[in-house]
Formats: sequence, structure tokens, C-alpha cells
Amino acid sequence: MAGLTLRNVSKRYDDNEVMRDINLDITDGDFVVFVGPSGCGKSTLMRMIAGLEDISSGDLKIDGVRVNDVPPAKRGIAMVFQSYALYPHMSLYDNMAFGLKLAGAKKPEIDAAVRNAAKILHIDHLLERKPKQLSGGQRQRVAIGRAITRKPKVFLFDEPLSNLDAALRVKMRLEFARLHDELKTTMIYVTHDQVEAMALADKIVVLSAGNIEQVGTPNELYHAPANRFVAGFIGSPKMNFLDGIVQSVSQEGVVVKFATGETQLAAVEPGSARPGDKVTVGVRPEHLHVSRSGDGLKAKVLAVESLGDAAYLYIESEVAADGLIARIPPLDRHAHGDWLYLAATPDHCHLFNSDGVAFKRLGAHALAA
Ligand code: ADP
Ligand code: MG
Repeated sequence: MAGLTLRNVSKRYDDNEVMRDINLDITDGDFVVFVGPSGCGKSTLMRMIAGLEDISSGDLKIDGVRVNDVPPAKRGIAMVFQSYALYPHMSLYDNMAFGLKLAGAKKPEIDAAVRNAAKILHIDHLLERKPKQLSGGQRQRVAIGRAITRKPKVFLFDEPLSNLDAALRVKMRLEFARLHDELKTTMIYVTHDQVEAMALADKIVVLSAGNIEQVGTPNELYHAPANRFVAGFIGSPKMNFLDGIVQSVSQEGVVVKFATGETQLAAVEPGSARPGDKVTVGVRPEHLHVSRSGDGLKAKVLAVESLGDAAYLYIESEVAADGLIARIPPLDRHAHGDWLYLAATPDHCHLFNSDGVAFKRLGAHALAA
């Protein structure tokens, strides 16, 4: 097991800087997930940790030792890729034994390691089979088994489930959680899927365009996103954003006035907010409700989706360029073309300044330090 430290790590391909000044501490034994949209640099960051890409500048330490110049095989790291990269002509047993054989391990040691890994992954009855005789999920297990036999200090997984269908992804996700519980080894897991990240991580690292946007627990990212990017990336359907200006500030928070004349109180620390500042209110679909009293934002229903356990209202509004989505009780009757009033309690409102930086929330939702 090992902790990792990245200090001012950058990556350039020729003149193109794809990772900038990455600073990150990963605690020994944590399950850390790197999440972000395609092309944001997740794989690049992981490949630098594995030693498959040079670090252009900055320091990478594993257990306090700088490893920038240590070759991949000597870093105590095992990496599992999206493509399983199994040898098609070899049995599962030989696929899993291969790395240890190359490293010169003795037969009894290899046998014990392969059988132990196979048992952990519930594939001990399949050891004589060839990869083509396996399902996608089983192949993925072999690739993980091959990593386990090497007893790494750190596991790296790069989108390991993206070749599997949705049902199997959910099942294998639980397997990763169980594997971490059992091995307690530091694991770094890359995905573009925020649900997978939320479900698995002790700590999530949200990346965008080569930068770390926020590091936090799933709850911190959901309840106290540091900025508009994280707020919009975590949660599905995504957070609603309503543009307005600061009308007044008080101990209860910030009153925001919309161009349509309505106001909304957001329970946040006003910080440096001044009347007249441009701000954006953020409200998750599950926190936007239809007001019976006629208070709130007047808006028009574009479409209704009934999902059984709930319904989604798609709403047109002058103050939200991307439109609004409200998650409402399944049997509420609304139809395309209806006008209604939307409201949110101040406690459920996030607030962002014109640079997209979040104001600190008050009360129970002020999770992040
Ligand atoms: P992700 O895994 O988050 O989808 P990557 O780490 O693969 O993203 O890529 C991050 C950025 O680095 C992208 O803009 C990609 O085009 C660029 N990139 C990755 N590998 C190379 C390379 N070998 N040469 C030049 N640019 C690269
Ligand atoms: Mg990638």
C-alpha cells in the first residue's frame, strides 16, 4: 500500500500543455476516482503516475520517494486498461501467471498468487479456459486478476467498465468496491461517468481541460461544488442555472433578482457580493418544485417525461439559457404549454459569481471546509 503526492505536475506534447500544475495528495488505502469529460486529461495523468508517459515538469512521489525517473516496472503499480489486453492463445491461468513468470518468480509462488487472485474474483473455476471462451465481464476479471497477482502498492484502472453493457457495469462496479474492501490497497480509477465516480470513490478528483476543478468526497461535490463546472458535472439531470443580479445581502444570504422581476433568496455567505453584481443561482432538478401559492418564477412547460417513480418537467424560462428541469412527483398533472410557478427553498440554492466560483453555503449544506 502506498500514498501518492503530485506537486506542480504538468504535461506538454510539443507546445501543447495538456495538464497544468497538478497538485494532489492521495492517502494510502484510498479509492480515488478521476472524473471529467472526454479529453480532459484523465488517462494522461494516470499514465504519468504509471510511468508510461514522461512528466514534463513537477514531482511525483510514491510513499515519499520521487519516482519521476523510476521505470514503470519498478514503481510497484499495476494498471488495468479499458481493452483487457489478454493473450488470446493462453489460458486464463497463463494470462494471470505471465507477469510473475517474466519477473522470475518460482512455480509454487506463481501458483499461489494466481489461485488467490482467481478466488478473490470468483473465476477459479475458469482457469483452463481461453479468453475467447469468456464473457466481457469475465475477461475484465482476468485483467484485474493479472494485476492482483503482482501485489502492487497502487492499482490504476482506466475506464475498466466502458466496454460492458449497462447492467454488467453496475454489477462490476460493486465488484470493484468489494475488491477494495478486501485488498485495502490504494486504487485510482478513471471514468467519464459521474455516477460511477459517486458510487465508488472515497475521494473524487474532478478534471476539466487539464486542470483539477475540485477534490472532495461524493457528498462534498454534490452539496458544496466549488464552482459552476463541478456543479453542472456532478448530478443527473444536471443542475439548473438561473442568471440574475444581487439585489441585497443579509445574514440570511443573498437575494437575487431576475430580469423578469422575480427574486430568490439563496442561503449563502455573501462574501464580497454587492448589489448589482451579476450572479447565477444553481438549483438541482430535485429541489425545484412547482409552487401552489403563485410565488416564484413564472415559466412555461415545454415537455413532460413520466418515469414511473418521478416525472421531469422541461421548462422554458427567460432567465435560464439552457432551460430548466424539475423533478416532480409522478402523479402531478402538468402538460406541454402549461404556465406555472417554480420555487426553491433558500437552503437548496447554490450561488456562483460571474467567474463561476461558488459562494459558501450556510447551514446544513455547508459541507466543504
Ligand atoms: P481523457 O483520458 O480524459 O479522455 P487524455 O488524457 O487521453 O484524455 O487526453 C488529454 C489531452 O491530451 C487531449 O487533448 C489529447 O488530445 C491530448 N493527448 C493525449 N495523448 C497525446 C499524444 N500522445 N500526443 C499529443 N496529444 C495527446
Ligand atoms: Mg482516457
